Amino acid sequence: MLNNVLLIGGDYQVKLQNFIYASFDLCAIILSVVVLINYIVSKKIHGRTTHLFLTLAICTIVSSVLDCTAVIALSVTGCPVWLGNLLVAINYLGYNVTGVVFVVYAVAVIYDNARIPRWCYAVANVLFVMTVAGVIFATVCLFNYGYRAVPTNLKYAYEGIIYGSQFIALAFSLSLGILQRKKLSKTRQLNIYFFAILNIIAILIQFLVRRIQLSNFALAIAVMLIYVTLQRPEDELDATSGAFNARSFNRRGNMRISANQHFFLFAMEVNNMTVINSSFGLNGGNQVIKEVADRLRALLKKGQYLYRLSGVRFAVMFNTFEEYQSFAARYAGVFDKPVSVANTEVHLTAIACVIDFPEVTNKLSEVEDLIRYYRNSINVSEDIIIADANAIEKARRRELVDFAIQKAINNKSFEVYYQPIFCVTDNTFSGCEALIRLKDDELGFISPDEFIPIAEQNGKIIEVGRFVIEHVCSFIKGRELAKLGIRFVDINLSVIQCMHPEIISDIEQTLKKYDVPRSMVNLEITETASAQSYAMLQTKLNELHSNGFTISLDDFGTGFASVEYLINFPFDVVKLDKSLVWAYMSTKKYEPILQHYMPMLHSLGTKIVAEGVETKQMVDALVALGCDYLQGYYYSKHIPEEQFIQFVTNNGDVKTA
Ligand code: C2E
Ligand code: CA
Ligand code: CA
Repeated sequence: MLNNVLLIGGDYQVKLQNFIYASFDLCAIILSVVVLINYIVSKKIHGRTTHLFLTLAICTIVSSVLDCTAVIALSVTGCPVWLGNLLVAINYLGYNVTGVVFVVYAVAVIYDNARIPRWCYAVANVLFVMTVAGVIFATVCLFNYGYRAVPTNLKYAYEGIIYGSQFIALAFSLSLGILQRKKLSKTRQLNIYFFAILNIIAILIQFLVRRIQLSNFALAIAVMLIYVTLQRPEDELDATSGAFNARSFNRRGNMRISANQHFFLFAMEVNNMTVINSSFGLNGGNQVIKEVADRLRALLKKGQYLYRLSGVRFAVMFNTFEEYQSFAARYAGVFDKPVSVANTEVHLTAIACVIDFPEVTNKLSEVEDLIRYYRNSINVSEDIIIADANAIEKARRRELVDFAIQKAINNKSFEVYYQPIFCVTDNTFSGCEALIRLKDDELGFISPDEFIPIAEQNGKIIEVGRFVIEHVCSFIKGRELAKLGIRFVDINLSVIQCMHPEIISDIEQTLKKYDVPRSMVNLEITETASAQSYAMLQTKLNELHSNGFTISLDDFGTGFASVEYLINFPFDVVKLDKSLVWAYMSTKKYEPILQHYMPMLHSLGTKIVAEGVETKQMVDALVALGCDYLQGYYYSKHIPEEQFIQFVTNNGDVKTA
């Protein structure tokens, strides 16, 4: 075709120039077609920049094709003049529309997560009107004089308007990019600058050095660069699940939030993941993630997208409550069918909630906090929980406490207080219980009843526990507690701590470090209902016991401890929970129960501690009942080290009377 152009024409110079023009256009076409095909076949990032990029790429192709066609038509002898004129006119239009589309694209990139200011629309409109006016002006001139015969001044005039509007479009995008650079990542900034500057240079060359027609080629190069750097689907996709990733979730969600859109966010997490990961390894875990993503994706309608937040946590945003409801109906039973992992059928359960944005919260970061909160506070629920402000409040508090725990771990700012334990047979304070205290600069005092469960859930309990053991040992050694008549210090161990593979060596190392005999520490464990951990806990406790540690069953009477539990576990001491003790004091019905329990516990060889002893009357009743030790505010609250030393020194041989 191009050879024809060269052969048919008269003037070889013109032909050569046209060939060069057409070659640039051809390169532009090839480049942008390659980009477009790649773009279409690969998975796309969704959102406004995606559609605009597609438009931009198509416009670049159209503009290059039109330019190329016009150049060829003008070179072919015998091409009707009207056709040449028409092609040139359409070419101007195509080229200029590309400029306007770029402005819109640049604005969309700049205001990706925010509402686009009205004046940006105004500028785009003005540019569009200018373009159309320039093209109409050009068309009139072309048809009046014919392409080759248009008077130079008129040609300059309409080309001035056409390239001028293109120039303004690019200069506007460039200035906007520079002004708003703080909102943009480096890549985004560079793309906008590069696109604008490259095309401005091309326009200047084209307008001033009229022999070189670079504009479409420059457009194509810039579009390709945008494709490889900005419109990269892999940046927003999660390879394991095929869902959109957390980054994409944040971008899309924040865009909705800043546009004050009302939407409903569905979020879910699969429950048994730790078990699955530990049983089937990483591959098995990934298989589950993929299967869950596939099942959820199958429930989505057009325009609804699945995001993977982290782990096996997924989310979907819905425009209306009705859309969410229709999804929820499909979601019911989604995990009825087991998932096959390494030839094993695994039944999945999940916790799911839906959050009204921005009614309930307007922070995306709180979505995961909320799931964490539900996961830890609600037993597995089949239904999707409708999140309310109260839950968000609690989830926020939970995150703050979590943060405070981490701070205290980093700064070693926990404190350990001691509560004396009175020995009935010896009439002395022969022991004490170590109780951890957390005072946070912002949150003030945080009760262990609040932060210990959180530390257990996030695994920080191991660090917290180490801190306590270290403190207790250094206290026993440093203040020579044995010389003050203290025979044991109770340390609370949470079940999770107890299950930790290094628990025994950890404690032993610390004892050794401070040269504390193991008989000086007594470990308190709270009864647990979990059947799953029953056998493992039993093994661990037996191991601790055979290593010479004494163990107390804490909070007896609050939960599930059965006689079987007492028989199968190596408890040396049982601590009657304060609620049970108080009930015994206030309700006659409890008398026979406790009176029945006491000899049974004693016959198993366990000592009995009554907690929550607050009055003299309680002391008398509990001594009469047969308790071996008493602990409670009647004697002392938990107190700091120094005060504890004072207390024991002053009450060396206190009498119960
Ligand atoms: P717990 O082991 O049952 O500890 C006894 C709790 O009852 C302590 O509260 C203590 O201050 C309180 N108490 C003792 N005597 C009386 C009384 O006469 N009347 C009343 N009303 N309360 C009394 P605290 O220190 O707030 O501890 C709460 C729970 O936090 C503990 O319950 C224990 O389960 C946990 N905890 C405390 N320190 C640690 C620790 O170092 N590690 C672990 N894993 N858990 C701990
Ligand atoms: Ca305790
Ligand atoms: Ca207790």
